[in-house]
Amino acid sequence: MIDICLAGTGGMMPLRNRWLTTCYSEVQGNGILIDCGEGTQIALAEADVNTNRINTLLITHFHADHISGFPGLMLSLANFQKTSPLYIFTPPSGKEIIQKLSCICSVLPFKIYVDELPPDRFFTFNSPAIPDFEIISAPMNHTTKCLAYRLTLNRKPIFNPEKAKELNIPVQYWKILHRGEIVEFDGNIYTTEMVTDGERKSLAYTYATDTRPNDNLVQLAENADLFICEGMYGDEENVADLRKKGHMNFIDAAHIAKKANVKELWLTHYSPALPNPYAYKDSVRKFFYNTKIPKDGFKTFLS
Ligand SMILES: [Zn+2]
Ligand SMILES: [Zn+2]
Repeated sequence: MIDICLAGTGGMMPLRNRWLTTCYSEVQGNGILIDCGEGTQIALAEADVNTNRINTLLITHFHADHISGFPGLMLSLANFQKTSPLYIFTPPSGKEIIQKLSCICSVLPFKIYVDELPPDRFFTFNSPAIPDFEIISAPMNHTTKCLAYRLTLNRKPIFNPEKAKELNIPVQYWKILHRGEIVEFDGNIYTTEMVTDGERKSLAYTYATDTRPNDNLVQLAENADLFICEGMYGDEENVADLRKKGHMNFIDAAHIAKKANVKELWLTHYSPALPNPYAYKDSVRKFFYNTKIPKDGFKTFLS
């Protein structure tokens, strides 16, 4: 199961009742956060997120509304007595920028590791903290180097103890077999397939902000259970401004959701000039029906 919480939904600057876009997800007690604009630690607290489970931080790009909350978040984690390492993945220049931001919170009780991801191609990796979670980054089309992410939980098949008992396999080998390893016992060889009940579907969600529509994003979101995507404005308003600043509107996001055949679309990163994004629900649903226009703290789980 993956728990997902879109703790903030704003773009550019925090507003009363709208924090900057940030997304928390949790798998097996491990937290992954994507982006940390100004005030992110407050957005997470208001959404009842258990902040000190965060052990992986993904950064889309280095515009202030996606990174300027980093020192505050680090100090909050320190205050919550976090001691386990934090693994951070960023576009190029991440090591230097994180180091500079860290100089005002230099004494932390946990280690930080920063990996810079390729800015020009799809790249698959794992956070050392969550080996079961496969992460793919892909370059977007913004005014600075920007990455979108797809997170996939590849689930093990369900273990069937009755099958293991029938084969007289001692209990101490069950976990090993469930992990996918072969066991040799009493002259016999046992495999995972012999004690499990078929494959389980993987769970995936894609997160993209900030960007113009592009083919990489369609590919990254393909068949995802959930697609969280930026939309600065509701419809065709401010098109020239969106092009110039490397953003899209709700309809652009809906077109991508449809092309990629995702199950559900959540919009986010609303412009401060868009006080009521919820008014566009019906118009955007003409293009992709299963669209949600979340408020801060919107949650779901994939299972
Ligand atoms: Zn932004
Ligand atoms: Zn940006």
